[in-house]
Amino acid sequence: MKMKKKYWLQDISKQRIERLFEFAGQEFDEHPDRSNRYVQLARQIGMRHNVRIPIRFKRRMCRHCHSYLVPGNNARVRLQGTHVAVTCLVCEKQMRYPYSSRIEEKQITG
Ligand SMILES: [Zn+2]
Repeated sequence: MKMKKKYWLQDISKQRIERLFEFAGQEFDEHPDRSNRYVQLARQIGMRHNVRIPIRFKRRMCRHCHSYLVPGNNARVRLQGTHVAVTCLVCEKQMRYPYSSRIEEKQITG
């Protein structure tokens, strides 16, 4: 019973995280501050319920300052061989991701 409830909670949390990132994307043009707050909320939910933020969303947030990132706006994306280098223009730090999405699922977990 306990396990079941936990899974159920994680499922709900996952949905909330997805929704929050969706909102973040929608609000960014006019209210980038709100986008950052949605991302922050999503992170909190993830930590509280032990739910991983899906890779596709992780790439939209700065690992260092947790800003919501939009390539060409507050993030610069460059290909570096087998990696994608994303520079956050808010804190000017860089993140690197493997280019192939399959490797990425395995390597970027935290
Ligand atoms: Zn940053």
